[in-house]
Amino acid sequence: MNEAQQVLLQEMGYSLWQLRQPPVAGEGAQQECGEPAEPPAVTEPASEVSVPVVPAMAPAVSAATTAPLPDADARAERIARMDWEELSRAVQECRACELCKQRQQAVLGVGDRQADWLFVGEGPGAEEDARGEPFVGQAGKLLDAMLAAIGLRRGENVYIANAVKCRPEGNRTPHADEMAACRPFLMRQVELLQPRIMVLLGKAAVHSVLGEDKSLASMRQKLFRAGEVPVLVTYHPAYLLRNLPEKAKAWEDLCLARRQMQGRSGN
Ligand code: URA
Repeated sequence: MNEAQQVLLQEMGYSLWQLRQPPVAGEGAQQECGEPAEPPAVTEPASEVSVPVVPAMAPAVSAATTAPLPDADARAERIARMDWEELSRAVQECRACELCKQRQQAVLGVGDRQADWLFVGEGPGAEEDARGEPFVGQAGKLLDAMLAAIGLRRGENVYIANAVKCRPEGNRTPHADEMAACRPFLMRQVELLQPRIMVLLGKAAVHSVLGEDKSLASMRQKLFRAGEVPVLVTYHPAYLLRNLPEKAKAWEDLCLARRQMQGRSGN
């Protein structure tokens, strides 16, 4: 790669994820996490956060969003019984909050529906709203580079979703009521996917999944649980693009996630 290409990539936020050594053929951009110098600082007991569990034999319900406005619990219960097709349709037709008014389309998520890894971001931006896929803009490029750094690739054993499925205008942070309205969709995705790990990218995802409003700095490097699913927290790629030094911390978080997946978390 020449210098101009490197500068361009750095401007796009790739600096942390550059290889320190030339890649071995077939290894892509994967980097070595290495063993932590000390046991990982995952010293606190895992917090137990309950995700509504859907009865395995729950009857399928169709056309969930066509009924007159149900109360929130009834709606959540119906969403909790949907299969992927029903969920996808319900998300596209959803009118549960104000965000539906400006969307071009709702963005359910993308990837392998048998994935071990689930990454959850905040909500679609302009490009995502136009293309119907999460994380396709600048932040998405960085997310792809982050995935590559730990040997993952979008769509292969990875599923990517958002706390809200419709674009907040001006890419503002979604409001709590908007995240609450969308939460049943995300929880159903978790239930259908049954990932082996969930990585929450940024505060909105943390708020939606764990119901926590604490700083990310105080939550990263700790293991949480959503039902049976181990959950780790890291910075949102868009934040990392604006705060380059924090990428080192995100790298530590990804390494912890990988160790957790390899059963070496130190917990
Ligand atoms: N940021 C997000 O959180 N999600 C997207 O899909 C795109 C940008």
